[in-house]
Order: sequence, then structure tokens, then C-alpha cells
Amino acid sequence: MAGIDIQRNQPTLPMQGIPQPTREEVLDLPRLSISRHPVIAHKLTTLRDKQTPPPEFYRLVKEIGSLLAYEATASLALETRTIDTPLQTMTGHRLAGGIGVTPILRAGLGLAESFREVIPEAQIWHLGLRRDERTLQALEYYNQLPYQVDLQVCYAVDPMLATGGSAIDTINILKRRGIPRLSYVGIIAAPYGLLRLSQAHPNIDIYIAALDDRLNDLGYIVPGLGDAGDRQFGTY
Ligand code: URA
Repeated sequence: MAGIDIQRNQPTLPMQGIPQPTREEVLDLPRLSISRHPVIAHKLTTLRDKQTPPPEFYRLVKEIGSLLAYEATASLALETRTIDTPLQTMTGHRLAGGIGVTPILRAGLGLAESFREVIPEAQIWHLGLRRDERTLQALEYYNQLPYQVDLQVCYAVDPMLATGGSAIDTINILKRRGIPRLSYVGIIAAPYGLLRLSQAHPNIDIYIAALDDRLNDLGYIVPGLGDAGDRQFGTY
């Protein structure tokens, strides 16, 4: 994740000396939901373990993501629908309006699959943002967002909320599409990125599985799980 300072041929340390909030300072953010589900806690421990190989890691990301997707979709709006069961006519419910999921490439791909397990009709809006290794700024390199928008909500998904740069930029891009409701879903957040995202976008809901201690000088979440993209796709 570190870039190289060409002049001095040294790895750059983008978070060195930057003050960070503590966990306690962000725990009560108004629209933050940190899962208390014991199955998520159980799976997360195996996910973090450095011995866990990529195929199992990817499977766990998808499983944790599906549990988070259940939690994040609990407040979706419904509309009534009259149907005929084999026995009689009845009024049931269907989700009102489409559901969008924007995986921030590439680490968000596993979580997008999770949402498809829960809501197969969800539209997947791929967005490629990459961090400038030296400045940690997010750069857009790929965008497959449709022109027609008929969504009740779109979930930006990325397993690691580190500095918050990609998440903030993604929500900015989605806001320009006029989607009425936006949420962020991730697995692990650092207090620094969480606070930045919540301050930049106070009107979105944020769902995570765990809030970790801090970012290290390189911008990795500690204790974290390392690079979520490399660990999902085996590119160490
Ligand atoms: N992205 C990752 O994959 N891991 C981190 O710790 C921070 C950002």
C-alpha cells in the first residue's frame, strides 16, 4: 500500500503523524450500526487469521456480507402486491423500487456477491477507484453506472473503511445519480475513516461488522486483516 518517494527512494508513510480519533470517540455516531451478531464475530476471527487461505477468505467475506446484507436491508420500504396462492387470493409485499449495490473494485466484489445471495434482483453498479499510494486520494478508473435510475436505495460496499477516501468519493458519485437513499456496508472500519465518512455524508447509514483501533503509518487498519483485495484474490 505504501508508495515510493522517488527522490529519497523510501516508502512513503501517508498516515504518519496524522492525528486519529479513538474508538470511543466514534462509537456513538448517529447513523452507525456495528453488528452484534455472534455468527459474524465468529466468522470474522477466522477471516482476520493470517493462516486463512484465499478460497476460505473469499467464502467468509461472502458469508459475513450476507449477514450484513440482512441487517442493512431490514428497513427497506415495501409495497403491497395481490397474488393468488393455490388456495385463495391474498395481499403480500414486495420491495418497493430497485436495489442497487456498488462494489468498490476490486475488494468490494465479494460483498456484492453477498447482496446478490440475499436479493438476486439487485443491480450491481461496478465502480473502480484506486488509491494514489502517496497521497491516499481516490482516483476513478472504471465506471459501469447505468443512466436509468429507479432505485429506492444503493449500497456502496467495500470490506475495509480505512481512510474513508474511496467511500466518500463513491457516495459523492452516487449522490449525483439522484438515488433517494444511500448506505455504506463494510466489514472492518478504522475510527479515522468512519469519522471522515460520517462527517462528509451525515445522511447515509453505515453498517459494519467491527470497529478496529486505528490506522498504522501505511494506512492499514490495525489489527485489521491485511489487504482485503489480495487476500480474496490470492495476489500477495
Ligand atoms: N485496505 C485494505 O484492504 N486493508 C486495510 O487495512 C486498509 C485498506
